[in-house]
Amino acid sequence: MKATCWMGKKNVRVEHVPDPQILNARDAIVRITSTAICGSDLHLYNGFVPSMEKGDVLGHEFMGEVVELGKGVRNLSIGDRVVVPFPIACGHCLACQAQTYSLCENSNPNAWMAEKMWGHSPCGIFGYSHMLGGYAGGQAEYARVPFADVGPIKVPEGLADDQVLFLSDIFPTGYMGAELCDIQPGDVIAVWGAGPVGQFAIKSAYLLGASRVFAIDRFEYRLRVAREKAGAETLNYEEVDVLEALKELTGGRGPDACIDAVGLEAHGHALMYAYDRTKQALMLETDRPLALREAIMACRNGGTVSVIGVYGGFIDKFPMGAVVNRALTIKSGQCHVQRYMRPLLDRIQKGEIDPSFVITHRLSLEDAPEGYDMFLHKEDECMKVVLKP
Ligand SMILES: [Zn+2]
Ligand SMILES: [Zn+2]
Repeated sequence: MKATCWMGKKNVRVEHVPDPQILNARDAIVRITSTAICGSDLHLYNGFVPSMEKGDVLGHEFMGEVVELGKGVRNLSIGDRVVVPFPIACGHCLACQAQTYSLCENSNPNAWMAEKMWGHSPCGIFGYSHMLGGYAGGQAEYARVPFADVGPIKVPEGLADDQVLFLSDIFPTGYMGAELCDIQPGDVIAVWGAGPVGQFAIKSAYLLGASRVFAIDRFEYRLRVAREKAGAETLNYEEVDVLEALKELTGGRGPDACIDAVGLEAHGHALMYAYDRTKQALMLETDRPLALREAIMACRNGGTVSVIGVYGGFIDKFPMGAVVNRALTIKSGQCHVQRYMRPLLDRIQKGEIDPSFVITHRLSLEDAPEGYDMFLHKEDECMKVVLKP
């Protein structure tokens, strides 16, 4: 089959690789009909994630048709159309029983590698390094889906791929980012990053009762989508002092909750940015936490900072004093996608949201390398690339 392979830093190629096989009774093989490039794939592309190997198949946002089933999968049939969640989760361990699927204790065969970095291991993830299981991803013609009796959700008739594909990651991730804010009716929320996850965080904050949502980014086209499609008020951090502006907009108090939908490759324009770039380049710091620092400084006293942008390692100049002295709560996590798929599918069916609004480019799988490049450089107002095998 054809698959998008990581071949080194800034080097992605569509190669012929062996078809996936059923390895375990609870596996399914899915023929992929739609798959997407995620902002977190750019961290792999840029070489920020350790334990990638040449030839690894990329992609953790995908959907398609079930073409083969292991004996242990009874809830799916050949021919079912399914969306596959990016965290691989067994459904039975303590973490899965608590519905914290991204912390599944059974799905990362390389847990020891993650333990070295983080103390304990989270779940395995499709197409996201050997440290997170070494699973082949879904930017391909076919994928093996472990624990297929737990993860994939069947798509009801009448819904197009574009409307449901993002149940695999970015819609639930944005939603969880808003849910972590414990939004009370009328709350004011600020979201750093108006990429696809940020857009869904904005939409979800409104669905959960926020009265005003501010979006912070530097790309005017992304801020335009945040205004026009997600209903946010926008701040371009290259034009305004974000902390001052947020103070002014909230009567001096600050937003009730702040969402970091940026993560480890944040950009900025001040001295701090140069500092972080330098330290990251010298391997003295793995992540550039500009958005996170600002979110903490902006948040009102006693508020919540929700971190859904991806961080991999260690950060510097973390304003712990602000957290302690102003009684802030920091919440985070890779999304427990399995928990959100059903309720968010219901919202799509009811017409409360159509997630396809973030798609800017549809390419064939063969054009994945161009897709990565275009997305990285934000060419042609690229927001979200969907690949069709
Ligand atoms: Zn993703
Ligand atoms: Zn589990």
